[in-house]
Amino acid sequence: MAIILRSPQAQGRAQRAPGIGASEAEYVFGLETRSSLRSPLGVGLDTMRWEIMETHLEWRDWMPSLWEDAMFEVTRELRFCYGHRLLQYDGKCKHLHGHNGRAVLTFAAPSLDQLGMVIDFSKIKKSIGGWIDTNLDHRMILHRDDPILPEFRRLGEPVFLTDVNPTAETIARLIFEHAANEGFPVTQVSLWETDDAYATYRLSK
Ligand SMILES: [Zn+2]
Repeated sequence: MAIILRSPQAQGRAQRAPGIGASEAEYVFGLETRSSLRSPLGVGLDTMRWEIMETHLEWRDWMPSLWEDAMFEVTRELRFCYGHRLLQYDGKCKHLHGHNGRAVLTFAAPSLDQLGMVIDFSKIKKSIGGWIDTNLDHRMILHRDDPILPEFRRLGEPVFLTDVNPTAETIARLIFEHAANEGFPVTQVSLWETDDAYATYRLSK
């Protein structure tokens, strides 16, 4: 029987009981209770304030589907500047304006690669960040029917064209689809258009 314990007295570090193999996962329960149970290890655990105490077998019995569906996730943020405007929209966003955008990309995998990673953060930066730098950063992202397009072309200004209004939702989807097409295990992309508003495109759950 494996028991996982954690207590504030142990400085928040999960304690791995002797005898638990390295392949055993550690599970954190949100329960906080004072236990008077006898420690099977004889280390006076009944004097500590417990945050977690359970057996793997009971966990599996309670939450078998969660156990089987457990995944690793990594998240990387990529920043870029862009301009846009919305067609057929009655509001400030119908005018040309810009944003300091933050794309937050999440990737998931049921197991890790040989390096112990879902995906290397630097690979995300180099591949997807590179594509954003080349195609979206410091560019106007415009609907392909935008009547201002001929003028931008005449001036030699770089543009990125979309089939629908270039909203935060559209740009999140654009980045998601690029990442997926490049073979990344992307599950979600959020595009923060401002400090307090973002849109997300993700796999349905
Ligand atoms: Zn905007």
